[in-house]
Amino acid sequence: MKVKLPSSRRARPASSSRSSTPRGTGKTRKMLINGSWVPAASGETFPTYNPATGQAICQVASGGRADIHAAVRAAREAFENGPWRRMTPSERGKCLWRLADLLEKHADEFAALESLDNGKPQSVARVADVPLAVDLFRYMAGWATKILGHTIPLSVPYAPGARFHAYTLREPIGVVGQIIPWNFPLLMAAWKLGPALAAGCAVVLKPAEQTPLTAIRLGELIQEAGIPDGVVNIVTGFGETAGAALASHPGIDKIAFTGSTEVGKIIVRAAANDLKKVSLELGGKSPNIICDDADLETAIPGAANAIFFNHGQCCCAGSRLYVQKRHFDKVVEGVAAAAKKIKVGPGHAADTEMGPLVSEEQLSRVLGFLRSGQVEGAETVVGGSRHGDSGYFVKPTVLTNTKPGMKVMDEEIFGPVVCAIPFKDINDVLPVEKANSYGLAAAVWTRDVGRAHRIAAELRAGTVWVNCYNIFDAALPFGGYKQSGWGREMGQEALELYTETKAVCVNI
Ligand code: ADP
Repeated sequence: MKVKLPSSRRARPASSSRSSTPRGTGKTRKMLINGSWVPAASGETFPTYNPATGQAICQVASGGRADIHAAVRAAREAFENGPWRRMTPSERGKCLWRLADLLEKHADEFAALESLDNGKPQSVARVADVPLAVDLFRYMAGWATKILGHTIPLSVPYAPGARFHAYTLREPIGVVGQIIPWNFPLLMAAWKLGPALAAGCAVVLKPAEQTPLTAIRLGELIQEAGIPDGVVNIVTGFGETAGAALASHPGIDKIAFTGSTEVGKIIVRAAANDLKKVSLELGGKSPNIICDDADLETAIPGAANAIFFNHGQCCCAGSRLYVQKRHFDKVVEGVAAAAKKIKVGPGHAADTEMGPLVSEEQLSRVLGFLRSGQVEGAETVVGGSRHGDSGYFVKPTVLTNTKPGMKVMDEEIFGPVVCAIPFKDINDVLPVEKANSYGLAAAVWTRDVGRAHRIAAELRAGTVWVNCYNIFDAALPFGGYKQSGWGREMGQEALELYTETKAVCVNI
């Protein structure tokens, strides 16, 4: 069976190539604190840029320590004393469902705004990012009424004859700080807010400074959906200021972070002061393994999608492409041909399949990796350089002759760059992957069911795709082994990040 991949090559925009100006871009965007839209306490703003042109789109409030403090105080008040806590789980679920409906109603607008701010093709945002966010809110709406404890039979050895009725409650963890990245701005907001709200928490959300616009617009819909004031606060600003103030704030019970492994470690240190709970979804360097019995008709486009989807700006990008020797040349040729065909352009254009990288910083980072690959002896089969001379575009790139120890092989590039590596026996690949410091995702392509399951069991990764890649679902937990993170997003597992277990023991 062929799986329909969320690739830009398959997606077509609902509307024309017209570059519309989405709502909420013409004026200075404020922050949502305690149900009001406010400027930063300092009065400072920063520009957010269109990465296809490098031009500023609009100014956004630059939140700092004082704004984080006000937001945490509002969230605490909403959590402890507001109507949120007294609502039934069913009413909370309805709020989330209404939010999903509103987002769906405004799907075209969100796709346009995401494309403008992040650079991704509007067509892709319309078929992937926005519907996935809608679905996540609906999925979590259903969980609001199903967060259950247990009854537990006790056998206390030192209390012979006594009888107890013991049970557990799963209670909301409290006030949560959530820091999200720029690669899927709306979807990451949904992954974070959905389970937190289903569990009954109150939140301070800090979007990435590169892409704050869809989170701000989502804040308006959150109000429209009837989620009480103070339950969701959105503070825009930079990582080193607003983000750091949130991670170290003593008034929050838990911090949830998605971003680089490097910043993940900073978050852990900041949270250590008062031992707040932490969950992390971090980087990856994911192996995508094509065995000699794979269906190449599916595996080759699958391998291209694994690395080129979202311009390689995915923590789970299939950036290490292992191919069993018999098919190595054919697969490299196929992925290179797919790379050459990708139409690179601005996100709003109807025929664009790959947009720019998100920022000038990312552009120079990825170009730096390409240079280091060349210096260290990698061979560039296709791409290998900037695309055009304005905007932050990079050509989709396939490298061969790469080995562990090279920067391009070992480090997360976060761009459309894949290292193709031939292998003779799967037992040559598995030890290399065991030594991979990341463990977010992996894939194996084979027609042999037994082999698929054996390899899946060996790989130390939070997700293993078999004969597919980049399949996401609100019900499917996602997260990392090793330095790829702590905890799981989505699925029932995500609720564990936002609840505490209370054991109640009654002497009867
Ligand atoms: P990238 O390097 O890909 O931009 P980051 O991990 O730096 O990703 O950013 C992800 C999120 O973490 C963003 O919202 C960013 O503002 C935030 N961030 C960056 N540095 C810090 C920090 N020192 N403390 C808290 N948050 C941070």
